[in-house]
Amino acid sequence: VKAKNKNDYRFYTPEFDKETIWLAEIEEKMRQGLPRKEFVLYFQPIIDSSSHTVTYFEALCRWHNDDAIDIMPDIFIPIAEQSGLIGSLTTQLLHQACSFIKELDESNIRISFNISATHLQSQDFMSEIKAVFDKENVVPSCFIFEITETVLMQNWKRNVSLLNDLKLLGVEIAVDDFGTGYSSLGYLKRFPVDILKIDREFIRDLHHDAKNRIFVSAIVSMASALSLRIVAEGVENKEQASILAEMNCFLQQGYYYSKPLPILKVLRHLNSNSLH
Ligand code: C2E
Ligand code: CA
Ligand code: CA
Ligand code: CA
Repeated sequence: VKAKNKNDYRFYTPEFDKETIWLAEIEEKMRQGLPRKEFVLYFQPIIDSSSHTVTYFEALCRWHNDDAIDIMPDIFIPIAEQSGLIGSLTTQLLHQACSFIKELDESNIRISFNISATHLQSQDFMSEIKAVFDKENVVPSCFIFEITETVLMQNWKRNVSLLNDLKLLGVEIAVDDFGTGYSSLGYLKRFPVDILKIDREFIRDLHHDAKNRIFVSAIVSMASALSLRIVAEGVENKEQASILAEMNCFLQQGYYYSKPLPILKVLRHLNSNSLH
């Protein structure tokens, strides 16, 4: 196939070609989907297993479009990052999270909200976030921002001051996917971090794998020595839940308790059980 213009080099390699076209199609669909509000937040509870109550919710994005195949955030978030759409996607989602908080008004429930690496590095990050809080008139202390470990380590001087600014606003900071990245515990002293989320990789084989138990148990002790809260991700069964509880890791999240749910289901659930 002949390139239509000199920038169309992708036409020369069929495999690369397919992938590129597919990604470009998703990007285009995202561009169209954003103003149509196709991206919606689902909410997954973080449970305090010692009292069986919901402590807060993690907001997770879902893409509702007309296509038969669901595209999950593991695919579309990186595309949003590469194509520069992540800023507008995140502000739109933060608006949704604020509306949810306002609907929950008297229950004092907080939301843990994922912040992507590239968005955090962008110049406009703080002003965009602040603008949403101002416009929605929601207190930032209703929010926890989840940021992955590897991101924190890049550009750490800037990130320390950025996180300090967020903390001044009242936002708490959670280290997401803890244990998969840099994992030197020393850096935790430098960062104003409140919560560690142990990655699901370490929880998955907890009941079969003694090494994972030692690892998780060590993180839990260290976290409590540093006065950090700790959340176990991806808890799928009773065995995992009770091993974690024995280790004093009571904050747990996973399919064992609940999948991420659409807003209406969460509201129905909270109304019937008055969980808070
Ligand atoms: P994450 O932040 O580590 O989110 C946890 C993922 O684990 C979610 O996948 C959640 O649905 C899934 N999960 C929860 N409990 C279980 C369980 O018991 N077992 C298993 N196997 N999985 C469980 P999801 O929603 O597909 O999101 C994937 C990733 O995409 C997230 O990983 C996060 O990095 C990113 N993401 C999702 N929503 C957003 C968003 O609104 N903004 C940004 N920046 N990233 C997002
Ligand atoms: Ca997360
Ligand atoms: Ca995670
Ligand atoms: Ca993850």
